[in-house]
Amino acid sequence: MKLFDVYPLYDVTPVSAKGIEVWDDKGQKYLDFYGGHAVISIGHTHPHYVAKIKDQLDKMAFYSNSVQNPLQEELAEKLGKLSDCTDYDLFMCNSGAEANENALKMASFHTGKAKVISFKNSFHGRTSAAVATTDNPSINAPINQQQEVTFLPLNDFEAFEQAITSDAYCAVILEAIQGVGGLDEPSTEFYQFIAQKCKENHVVLIADEVQSGYGRSGKFFAFQHHNIQPDIITIAKGMGNGFPVGGVLLHETFKPSYGLLGTTFGGNHLACAACLAVLDVVENEDLIANAASLGAYFKEKAAEIPEIKNIKGRGLMIGLEFDFEVAELRKKMIYDQHVFTGSAKNKKLLRFLPALNITKEHIDLFFEALKTVLR
Ligand code: PLP
Repeated sequence: MKLFDVYPLYDVTPVSAKGIEVWDDKGQKYLDFYGGHAVISIGHTHPHYVAKIKDQLDKMAFYSNSVQNPLQEELAEKLGKLSDCTDYDLFMCNSGAEANENALKMASFHTGKAKVISFKNSFHGRTSAAVATTDNPSINAPINQQQEVTFLPLNDFEAFEQAITSDAYCAVILEAIQGVGGLDEPSTEFYQFIAQKCKENHVVLIADEVQSGYGRSGKFFAFQHHNIQPDIITIAKGMGNGFPVGGVLLHETFKPSYGLLGTTFGGNHLACAACLAVLDVVENEDLIANAASLGAYFKEKAAEIPEIKNIKGRGLMIGLEFDFEVAELRKKMIYDQHVFTGSAKNKKLLRFLPALNITKEHIDLFFEALKTVLR
């Protein structure tokens, strides 16, 4: 059997990693400023993370959601406190797309409606319901035609008001910082307007924090830069630092009932151990503050490089915009400088999504590599 060939791959085979350093099968070292799509939040193979997972593995990896799992409760408690979202309940699943599917499903149950408002260049995943909320028809044609999606331009108050007052929508889903799309953001005024209009029209507001959450933006959740309160928050990526896990935070106004949502693997013991270890490290190493201050340092350094035309994003979720497409630049960064970076739908944007415990020295190394490639 061969692999179903859906990913364009760089010719690099990582076999081990520590912190932001990654080694390939030939012994070459790389610096990881991409973290596998913003997944590596506390650094590769963090000793606390490894110890907690090994310890759990020795005891038990999995039992189903038909029996008590105190690790889920411990996680919900800790996550609520650290994120300042104590008035939400946690439902655990396995990925970002699954989190968004469940969120959309809940919105639909809650309102009795099916249509969804999303925004141009947003990305919410590639499963049936989540797929329907992307706007790239070539790869993301909605499979489930029932969940019709309207894509609106970001920060267009008039278009939004016109749509939301039509009484057809169950949910608005948005990223506070667009990841895959290229780091565009709703303004605070627009996000507050959305929140207000959702309330007035009984539409569920879903904050997709799959990429921007877990401290990456310099606050636990990126929507917290805008002083709003979503009805549902979806999480994944940095939540497990590489362990596949996702979650839906439902405001306590949503009432649960048996069978409403469900999953086999979601919230299993190993996943909980990974998530608890991540939160321990985020707290003990003060990583949210580190993301904020190092993001500011990164932007200062980027501002010194004339080839960079625009700097987007917050914290350690940053995009550097050039006046040329960056595919060749990324190749040179990886093959010549041995530095991993990310791309976006905006082809002129180079993305920087490192572990939240990087240092100024790491950022200096990144800019040395970038300058060498640019000159
Ligand atoms: N939502 C956002 C904002 C994302 O960036 C992604 C993935 O890139 C997803 C959802 C989907 O997550 P997953 O790939 O874990 O299904």
